[in-house]
Amino acid sequence: MGFEPIRKQGISGSPPNLADYEAARREFSWDRARAELSGLPGGRGLNIAYEAVDRHALGSAGNVVALRCVSHDDRVTELTYEDLRRRTNRFANALCALGIGPGDRVFTLLGRVPELYVTVLGTLKNRSVLAPLFSAFGPEPICERLRLGDARVLVTSEELNRRKIAAIRDRLPGLKHVLVVGRTAPEGTLSFQETLAACGDGFGIPDTDPEDMALLHFTSGTTGRPKAAVHVHEAVVAHHATARFALDLHPGDVFWCTADPGWVTGMSYGVIAPLVCGLTMVADAGEFDARRWYRVLARHRVTVWYTAPTAIRMLMRHGAEVAKDYDLSALRFVASVGEPLNPEAVVWGQEALGLPVHDNWWQTETGAIMISNFAGMDIRPGSMGRPLPGIEAAVLERGPSGRARVTRGRVQVVDRGEGELALRPGWPSMFRGYLHEEERYAKAFADGWYLTGDVARVDEDGYFWFVARADDVIKSAGHLIGPFEVENTLMEHPAVAEAGVIGKPDPVAGEIVKAFVALKPGHEPSEELRRELIAFGRRRLGAVAAREIAFDQNLPHTRSGKVMRRLLKARELGLPEGDVSTLEGPS
Ligand code: AMP
Repeated sequence: MGFEPIRKQGISGSPPNLADYEAARREFSWDRARAELSGLPGGRGLNIAYEAVDRHALGSAGNVVALRCVSHDDRVTELTYEDLRRRTNRFANALCALGIGPGDRVFTLLGRVPELYVTVLGTLKNRSVLAPLFSAFGPEPICERLRLGDARVLVTSEELNRRKIAAIRDRLPGLKHVLVVGRTAPEGTLSFQETLAACGDGFGIPDTDPEDMALLHFTSGTTGRPKAAVHVHEAVVAHHATARFALDLHPGDVFWCTADPGWVTGMSYGVIAPLVCGLTMVADAGEFDARRWYRVLARHRVTVWYTAPTAIRMLMRHGAEVAKDYDLSALRFVASVGEPLNPEAVVWGQEALGLPVHDNWWQTETGAIMISNFAGMDIRPGSMGRPLPGIEAAVLERGPSGRARVTRGRVQVVDRGEGELALRPGWPSMFRGYLHEEERYAKAFADGWYLTGDVARVDEDGYFWFVARADDVIKSAGHLIGPFEVENTLMEHPAVAEAGVIGKPDPVAGEIVKAFVALKPGHEPSEELRRELIAFGRRRLGAVAAREIAFDQNLPHTRSGKVMRRLLKARELGLPEGDVSTLEGPS
């Protein structure tokens, strides 16, 4: 630690939505939060897309710019709430025309282009289920997730279709339609533009039960296949309330969330929450580039910025002086999520941006921010902050497995100190299951708590501090990567007998993926083979493949024969192999 608390800032203009933490917790109830939304007219339920688009468009905000999309070459396309209402209606009509109904899964594999937002919200209007994919995935993880999620429709770009989908299409008999955004629609696909042009722009959202499935988000565990976390329309209550509390969103804000729309942050806060709050959202199609990002902040007069620790650390590498070339005077609140935010980065925000970075914590399963540093609360640099109003968080005593100790169905809460971070279920955006995997879902709960898989410490004032993951899952540049998926792919190479994959600490990305590989008889370690394996992984897995590979004919095993990733990590970190419990620590 050694970092002084940063006093809450006087924010110019409107007072923070959460000015007094204790009072906000006392006064809050989810029923009250629900009452701030309109619900479908005539009491016909709750639909995310209606709250995000139609209630603004049909009210007094039809002409407000909902979305400002910046293309790779800096062209700006603006859509008002009314534009978005009509286009999402067209998309919903297109789904109906294709025979896609409630509950059917529509996948996206797209960057931040206007068609993405139209697809997401049009799908929800039709009560179909939206499942976003990370476009930097290679063909294998994409294929696996399309299959796991029972994809009926995929919306993608011309280029991504050619590079990633064309080769796997015949392995996906359930995938009925591929809609392609671009100039041409290759054989076997439909043109997004033409399909929508053929549809009308009026659509009546059908009755929507708040418990109807709305979104599927893929996440990774230590073992087995990726998991598809199920979220329902009711989640919008939490998207709205948490965006107001943790991101301090106000009407009139210009908000920019840099998260990729293929992950939960890019969906909950990169699409849904800002629109539900009725403000203007900036969506930049470009990749990270320090000067580009400062330019977006300055040119679009961004007031609230939600980004990630890796991005902040990359900006730090370019030096605080670069920020001084840009007019960032509109910016009033900066937040970050996804991986540990080191205290230096919090403080650097103050130097470069004139504002500290507010860390917050949540995960795919929670659907919305759970723990946060708020505008109206002092920041303890390095801490994730305190639980949101309506959220009860605790740390639970751990057993030898590293996870919460459950004795005769009971867990033990640690008042002050370290343990597995747990949350009391019942908030609206909590996942309702892992698709087709009831047992895996049931295992995530004990004694009335949802167990997060993270180790955290709670201090005497109720601030939570991230310690480590309780499992072997890797976080690289904010993306959760399952070691099992990487190991399996490497083992498909004819030279590989076995593989063990770990997260190797990295000063910028937090962790990078490193694989230890045992070769089959007849194969010898060589620089050439190492390069070949890296390329092999990269072709199949894309951005989540191993960046480093080491040969090791003596991979350590547990008694049951599994590769001991923890021991591999101990060796990598130069820690004593005998005491693998010391492996945990911020990475
Ligand atoms: P995902 O489900 O991909 O959003 O990843 C969730 C995981 O990211 C959490 O369980 C944590 O391990 C990590 N994470 C998210 N936010 C933070 C944070 N503020 N500090 C440390 N780790 C975080």
